[in-house]
Amino acid sequence: RESRAMKFQRQHMDPDGPSNNSNYCNQMMRRRHMTEGWCKPVNTFVHEPLVDVQAICLQGNILCKNGKPNCHKSSSSMKITDCRVKSSSEYPDCDYQTSHKKRHIIVVCEGNPYVPVHFHASV
Ligand code: C5P
Repeated sequence: RESRAMKFQRQHMDPDGPSNNSNYCNQMMRRRHMTEGWCKPVNTFVHEPLVDVQAICLQGNILCKNGKPNCHKSSSSMKITDCRVKSSSEYPDCDYQTSHKKRHIIVVCEGNPYVPVHFHASV
């Protein structure tokens, strides 16, 4: 079965992207299986090398909202695409707004090796 680390990569990693089009989120949310059973409302894709995203687990240790100590904020800003479902979207025709941004990202890291398992926020 899919590990939490693999799930993070499926849902959030697109190092070679984004393809330059406004349909990016509609295509990627479907291709990465986040439109099955529902339209996942918000999802961020990161366009940086996997090693750079994994390295965040060794950077800026901060408290998570739930009080746990394993949240980490990237020391540099990263290329991301923010996907948000439109209010007019109706499952199964999941329709997303695509916004390309540069932001610091906050991830939750776990395990041995200590790697990202959850996307917390971009700031
Ligand atoms: O903030 P919340 O816990 O509701 O987020 C649920 C999920 O949405 C996160 O686990 C993450 O996969 C995704 N998310 C995201 N980018 C954000 C906020 C949430 O990918 N900026």
